[in-house]
Amino acid sequence: MPLPTDVSTVSDEEFRAEAKAWLAANLVGEYASLKGRGGPGDEEVGFEIRERWERVLGEAGWIGLGWPTEFGGRNATVAQQIIWAEEYARAQAPGRVNHMGENLLGPTLIAHGTAAQCDRFLPPILRGEERWCQGYSEPNAGSDLANVQTRAVLDGDRWVINGQKVWTSLAHVSHWCFVVARTEPGSSRHSGLSFLLVPMDQPGIETRAIVQITGGGEFNEVFFTDAETDADMIVGEIGKGWGVAMDLLAFERGISTLAQQVGFERELDGLIAEAKGNGRAADPVLRQRLVDMWIGLQLMKWNGLRSMGSGVPGPEASISKLFWGTWHRDLGELAMDIGGMESQIAEGFPYELTLDQKMFLFTRSETIYGGSNEIQRNVIAERVLGLPREKV
Ligand SMILES: Cc1cc2nc3c(=O)[nH]c(=O)nc-3n(C[C@H](O)[C@H](O)[C@H](O)COP(=O)(O)OP(=O)(O)OC[C@H]3O[C@@H](n4cnc5c(N)ncnc54)[C@H](O)[C@@H]3O)c2cc1C
Repeated sequence: MPLPTDVSTVSDEEFRAEAKAWLAANLVGEYASLKGRGGPGDEEVGFEIRERWERVLGEAGWIGLGWPTEFGGRNATVAQQIIWAEEYARAQAPGRVNHMGENLLGPTLIAHGTAAQCDRFLPPILRGEERWCQGYSEPNAGSDLANVQTRAVLDGDRWVINGQKVWTSLAHVSHWCFVVARTEPGSSRHSGLSFLLVPMDQPGIETRAIVQITGGGEFNEVFFTDAETDADMIVGEIGKGWGVAMDLLAFERGISTLAQQVGFERELDGLIAEAKGNGRAADPVLRQRLVDMWIGLQLMKWNGLRSMGSGVPGPEASISKLFWGTWHRDLGELAMDIGGMESQIAEGFPYELTLDQKMFLFTRSETIYGGSNEIQRNVIAERVLGLPREKV
């Protein structure tokens, strides 16, 4: 029997059984050919197949599980969302293509959007049809995001946008972008910014790929030259976009990492098996590091569960981001050391990387994106511990 729309009424055991059975029945054919692929650093692999997979997930109601039913979600409890993430990772189902729509924009619209915005944008995310990208960073506004210079001017019934974003992940395959832009001329820092929803397919937007160290190009420069969006495509009030943008970041730093940890566990299990197989598990230093990674994973899990129990994450979400970003970067380094010298040799030309090599290279970025480690520490210092603000 299929699960009801509101899954919160179902027992965890029943929910897990259904998740497992559905994945076994549907992760077949072309989808099964992408088992374990399409994760961070590997985004370009099988993109079109993963796009179709997203729709299959949507049709079966596996997208937006935790959203309230009145917004088209299934009201899944935190425990059920974790169960789904666990089963998904265990089945090695392909990397998802619309993390930013489902996990960042969706919850932000539910918290701050108008009814019309929710009606317009949530259903296509739930059906796996519309993908989103994040237009925050600029050449001079990364850690110092309040220095955003992209301008948006209200001209009749349209916002007209000019400026440049950078490091915009998956912009080249996104239908919409949420853009932080300066809407009050002469304003500075956090005031005078607005949070706009902008369609990507228009003459005023040019996307240029940036090639990454992994050889892939999942992120881009995005240029806005008289780009347009409708006047009502603003989330929150004019000039008050900073608060909306920060709430979205808390989703990025907190709840959305749920699925990730199960993938981390699989990677660590793989490394332990590799170390046993190639004899490096006998190396006392590598053993210590493997144990430290395992302990870190337990801490990450329990802290994640604790912080997710408290609803919309606050500045404490920075603890999780700081911890998992550093942990995963360390795992990438450990993978290279367990693989030994030969693990650093790439096959082919330009070069084909193994999944361990991709992990090693891509995880360098994880202590940077979503706010660098130093910025997370600043957030924790000032907003959690109440220490004096840093001198700028
Ligand atoms: C893989 C990847 C994907 C990304 N995807 C997106 C995306 O989709 N959308 C988007 O908008 N952005 C994206 N970003 C950009 C990311 O958010 C920025 O790289 C990040 O915020 C850092 O900004 P920056 O690169 O300008 O570095 P800078 O801000 O120039 O920082 C350089 C160094 O100085 C340190 N630093 C800066 N200020 C301080 C301070 N006050 N105190 C202590 N240390 C400081 C930083 O920690 C860092 O080590 C992505 C980045 C990466 C790597």
